[in-house]
Amino acid sequence: MAKIVVIGGSISGLLASISLSRQGHEVKIVDPTASDTDLDLEKRFSSRQKGLAQRHHSHAFLAKLRNNLKSNYPDVLDALLKAGAFEMPFMEFLPKTILQRDLEPGDVDLVGIGARRTTFETVILGIAQKEQGIEIIAGEISTLLASKNTDNPTRIYGVKIANGDEILGDLIIDCSGRNSERNGWLKKLGLGEETIEESPCPIQYLTRFYKLPSSASFLEPDGRFAGDFGYIKVGIFPADNGFFSITVGLNDQDRQLGKLRNPEAFDNAMLAFEHTGKWLRIKDMEPFTKVEAMTKLKNRRRKAVPLDQGGSIVGLIALGDSLMHTNPLYGRGCTISSMQAFELPKIIDSSNDGSQLVENWNAYVEKEIFPYYDMAVFQDAQDFMTIENGGIPPKGSLGHVIKEGVIPATYVDTGVYRAFIKAFNLIGGPFDLLSDPNVLDTINKTIAQRESNTWELPDPFGPTRDELVRLIENSL
Ligand SMILES: Cc1cc2nc3c(=O)[nH]c(=O)nc-3n(C[C@H](O)[C@H](O)[C@H](O)COP(=O)(O)OP(=O)(O)OC[C@H]3O[C@@H](n4cnc5c(N)ncnc54)[C@H](O)[C@@H]3O)c2cc1C
Repeated sequence: MAKIVVIGGSISGLLASISLSRQGHEVKIVDPTASDTDLDLEKRFSSRQKGLAQRHHSHAFLAKLRNNLKSNYPDVLDALLKAGAFEMPFMEFLPKTILQRDLEPGDVDLVGIGARRTTFETVILGIAQKEQGIEIIAGEISTLLASKNTDNPTRIYGVKIANGDEILGDLIIDCSGRNSERNGWLKKLGLGEETIEESPCPIQYLTRFYKLPSSASFLEPDGRFAGDFGYIKVGIFPADNGFFSITVGLNDQDRQLGKLRNPEAFDNAMLAFEHTGKWLRIKDMEPFTKVEAMTKLKNRRRKAVPLDQGGSIVGLIALGDSLMHTNPLYGRGCTISSMQAFELPKIIDSSNDGSQLVENWNAYVEKEIFPYYDMAVFQDAQDFMTIENGGIPPKGSLGHVIKEGVIPATYVDTGVYRAFIKAFNLIGGPFDLLSDPNVLDTINKTIAQRESNTWELPDPFGPTRDELVRLIENSL
């Protein structure tokens, strides 16, 4: 049994702590917000947390996360469902335009979770509060505690919180999110130990939450949760307790469409898209939040220098967004954090000492986690090409294959729909979508039909960019 200190008690810190405590470890979570122990979902949704603007953005909780909970932590999944979250069986949402609806046994696992992020977090906080072996301490970490400079490797053996208290542990896990100050803490100790890679995301992200009256229920999704219209991406996210949200992804530099931050303009614009408009027309539906915006987003990963290449720290690892975060458009952050959280106890078990633990963790991260960074950077590069090409993916780009092949084919072919849903939900490897020859064949045929104008299905309905700009200007 190890004594473990977790810096940060949000999604990653809580999931890691639950999985570690259930393997018999003694965990202390330190978070500045921990003095707020109230588990009221609506109070938490209404409250703000500095540095955590994403709390009020739409979150997709993918099948990989849901399946992991179902197999290993069924009580956590049950608690989420009891709190109002619900399971989203994607294969039951096959578009009506698919005539041949052959399902496969594995399809029952293609199920995500619909919930507000604050609901997800509050439920797992409630579980952590009750967990034997977890102590939650209010405090902000200001310094790491390190063994003497002459020790090699240097062992990080604790943390210091702003009031001067020291908390000691065999392992310190940094779960303090995308703005982690870990590098600064290490530099203060004379330990410049990490390389940071980053690349800008091409989008700004706008979200508004709405609430349905208790008499209304969610609409049949008919396979259509999101649409990519080249100049704008528009998604709808059913969530818990009658809430749903609409998120749009825009070119980060697009000032005209950036005016969608105006709530009236946002609602009028979303009424103009087929898949969001029908939700906004539900009788007595009410907007619940302002339009939340996040801009200047980045993909970022931080690599610890391996011990055999000059690295000199043991006792500290990073997990969750503090290790890596990617374009939120792909909806992967919480799922990828959960993968790490659930793997860590196994890695601790299989490591004989601190050095081996750090090496095993780095090897796991390199093999299983960082490929998602490469994938996000690759996907973003395709999006930048589309932006430079006036909102139309250039021929030959992945964007072109997705827009002209994959997406249209998901409306007529179960195999492509399944492959797309699997890829989105991280079932299989990061680059699996185009690896099945049958799927690839259907996609190529779809592209050919669209190029020769023999494709019969209408595209998802939405305004052109000019129409949308006019609509926005008229709303201001
Ligand atoms: C706009 C947007 C949309 C997103 N959409 C999705 C989505 O659809 N699906 C998805 O899975 N992911 C999504 N993500 C990513 C997801 O939000 C993150 O992956 C997730 O929040 C990571 O959680 P975390 O616990 O690692 O970090 P965070 O949630 O950032 O939590 C960090 C915690 O550390 C604490 N902390 C910070 N500094 C200190 C300190 N010095 N001492 C102690 N504690 C500290 C903070 O108080 C906080 O509680 C989105 C992100 C953004 C920005």
